[in-house]
Amino acid sequence: MKNIKCYQGDALSFHKNLVSDSLNKGVVKDNLLKNEVTITQTYSDYKDKFDNNNLFAISAHGFDGEDKTNLLNLYSSQRKSIIELKKELTTNEFNQRINTCPNCTIEKVASLDHYIPKNEFPEFSVNPINLIPCCSTCNSKKKENWKGDKNLLFLNLYSATIPNSQYLFVNIVSKTEFTFELKNISNIDSNLFNVIESHYDKLDLLQRFREDSDEVISELDILISSCRDSNIDDMELQKFIQNHYSKIEARDGINNWKIVLIKAMTNSNVYF
Ligand SMILES: [Zn+2]
Repeated sequence: MKNIKCYQGDALSFHKNLVSDSLNKGVVKDNLLKNEVTITQTYSDYKDKFDNNNLFAISAHGFDGEDKTNLLNLYSSQRKSIIELKKELTTNEFNQRINTCPNCTIEKVASLDHYIPKNEFPEFSVNPINLIPCCSTCNSKKKENWKGDKNLLFLNLYSATIPNSQYLFVNIVSKTEFTFELKNISNIDSNLFNVIESHYDKLDLLQRFREDSDEVISELDILISSCRDSNIDDMELQKFIQNHYSKIEARDGINNWKIVLIKAMTNSNVYF
């Protein structure tokens, strides 16, 4: 789990460009233009709370009727501007495509998720900083949920402070019998850890990691067996694996589930 690059352009201009799109005509366009002053205020409020890590406190403007319908209709995953936005949000600083869903780091990105749901907040239906690349499983598990009584329910991968310390662990009984678990052993701020626990729980991540583990174990089996075929001794082999995966860890984050699993397996007595 790690942060992803946020939209670099001007969010309000993105909204305005969509409104002036030739697809919007007549009364629909007039209605959208009539609401632009309010939209400007709501975008400014979103940005302010986003920058201060306080999206929990945001309130819906309360658009309804045709105002709401027209705002919601601006978002269509098939629309050219939205397709281009998805491409932009899934391209990293090295111009490489990020195809993996940042919310689970398991499945492929399929769509953009409205971090704050568009049905309750139609004003943010096309706000690029409210749109996070997402796989279809995470999107369907998240639904319209976004906050509980005391905290946000999901990590916002643009703005959340992802801890640099390990909170995801694997409890190993054998190579086929193990479970993922979350533990706050390095005193991560309790409010942040509550959001982490909620994110993993609501997206069913610990179970989904376990279900996807076989392929990771199988690749590790092949790597270890190839090294042993080349007569590399166990000490050298452990050193090689640690070095190799510490580089992947630097890229993917200390709590990337595959790295956590491989490190736990190679540090247990399963292989060595
Ligand atoms: Zn996902």
